[in-house]
Amino acid sequence: MNSSIALKVENVNKIYDQKNKKTKTLENISFEVKTGEIFGLLGPNGAGKSTFINILAGTVNKTNGIVNVWGFNLDKNPRQVRASLGIVPQEINVDPFFSPKKLLDIQAGLYGVKNSERITDEILKLTNLSDKADAYARNLSGGMKRRLLVAKALVHQPPILILDEPTAGVDVDLRRKLLDSVRELNRQGVTIIYTTHYLKEASDLCDRIAIINKGKLVALNSTKELLRNNSDLEEVFLELVSNVND
Ligand code: ADP
Repeated sequence: MNSSIALKVENVNKIYDQKNKKTKTLENISFEVKTGEIFGLLGPNGAGKSTFINILAGTVNKTNGIVNVWGFNLDKNPRQVRASLGIVPQEINVDPFFSPKKLLDIQAGLYGVKNSERITDEILKLTNLSDKADAYARNLSGGMKRRLLVAKALVHQPPILILDEPTAGVDVDLRRKLLDSVRELNRQGVTIIYTTHYLKEASDLCDRIAIINKGKLVALNSTKELLRNNSDLEEVFLELVSNVND
């Protein structure tokens, strides 16, 4: 696979099959994320974004289709796929009685990162948590906890970082700090896949944007091109989303 492509998905389908009820959640999804870009994945609630991210994370099985992450096929090399991805989850799930430093060490252990290869201090610095390295996690603000989730996702130095609605419920100032961390990581070479429902945030941050609705890819373009005739991503988004039939 071409190394300029960080993620490639081809004709991915997902049908949830529960108690005689089939829910078609992803339908023939195909796209690529280029190495080094900040890629936005947008869609209204229920569009299928979490399902897609969970497929990459290995917690949901796709029904069919091909997924390649950093050149590794998800079906053939799931471990290499896991090693290539850092995933920042939506929910805050940090143990309140450990410090950021300790939590990063535990996470590194889970990923089999040797002591000599750990870059804990660097990660704390990058996520603006150095001065809280030894504080109880329960004493961190909401924004700091979010940045700690980003830090945890970085312990194995993945080339691709996926952020699933990382700024939901975060106030403006903390949101700005989190976005600064994301931009800095990107400058350092990490490819970013970013889901959000804050459209302004997506248009400020992302090089390219994919929009999914009702399991279908309804748009994929550079942010600049999507906004070409319109300064407001919200309007473009609503129009694209309303054009999709069941
Ligand atoms: P989003 O993250 O964009 O809000 P989701 O991927 O969570 O969307 O959900 C997309 C659709 O798939 C929804 O209709 C949802 O009800 C359905 N769905 C999600 N998870 C399951 C599941 N485990 N079983 C059955 N249906 C599911």
